[in-house]
Amino acid sequence: MTLALVLLLGAALISIAAPRMLVTLAGTSLPPGVLLAAWLGSLGGALFLGASAVVTLAWPDHAPAETAVEAVVRCLSAVSHAVQPWITETMAAVGALGVLAVVVRAVILGRRYAREQARLRTYHRDVVAIVARSRDDDVMWLAHPMPMAYSVAGRPGFVVATDGLSDFLTTGERDAVLAHERAHLRGSHHLIVTTCDILAAVFPAVPLFASAPAAVKTLVELTADQHAAQATSTATVCSALTVVSASTLSQPAGTLGLSNETSLRLRTLNISWRTRWPRLSYATAAALSVTMPMATALAGLAMISTTVCLLATTV
Ligand SMILES: [Zn+2]
Repeated sequence: MTLALVLLLGAALISIAAPRMLVTLAGTSLPPGVLLAAWLGSLGGALFLGASAVVTLAWPDHAPAETAVEAVVRCLSAVSHAVQPWITETMAAVGALGVLAVVVRAVILGRRYAREQARLRTYHRDVVAIVARSRDDDVMWLAHPMPMAYSVAGRPGFVVATDGLSDFLTTGERDAVLAHERAHLRGSHHLIVTTCDILAAVFPAVPLFASAPAAVKTLVELTADQHAAQATSTATVCSALTVVSASTLSQPAGTLGLSNETSLRLRTLNISWRTRWPRLSYATAAALSVTMPMATALAGLAMISTTVCLLATTV
């Protein structure tokens, strides 16, 4: 039961404190990919810790790592051992019912989102196949004078761009826009955004899940900008962004494009540093976003436990 308490406290800490910390970090020069990894780590961590707490409660004997946790939170463990077994069993049953309800809701909403996304993808593929043409590249070109590009998810996903993109932008700027869209497809950004939307619908009252869609949508744009800057240059992406953001064309629903939050994106392109080992940085950010709240939860409970012990021995 002590381990379950630590896990639950860790999940609660991530769910409430992580969004505030991550929003604060968004104002620094941290690379957007690292921040995106921290958001995804927090979302996955909150789900994992919450589910693990229920599994630990339902575990027939001492769950793995229970002994180690009890060694740290000794006094509290003595109290939890004195708790009647039926209380733990009731908590496990309530937790299992809660997990089941969440899974059912997630499946229902997930299927609804997946159907809508599939309908949009099919619509885009059918319409674009009729009106667009290929120029011996992987882009579907539309005969429209205004500059615009967007990516549509799928297997495989594809990039749609207008002739205006070639007419208004230099070759370098056009390549930057296309690199941005390809980064969305390579990074599975559509799937990440959809998953965040589903989680927000499943847990609307939990701050972490409720605030994730807006923050993650911005971060995938900033991350794609970074990839485009690596493929071309920061100055090229900045000038491409400036031109495309002036376009009055609206981006189709269910796609990821290029034309929002231009001032933030220009600022981020110019201030955020580049990580030399991106995968290692992303893994570290994701791991820290789970381990830090867990360590805080364990330390907090250990302090409470020690205080309770001291009070009990002095009384
Ligand atoms: Zn984009």
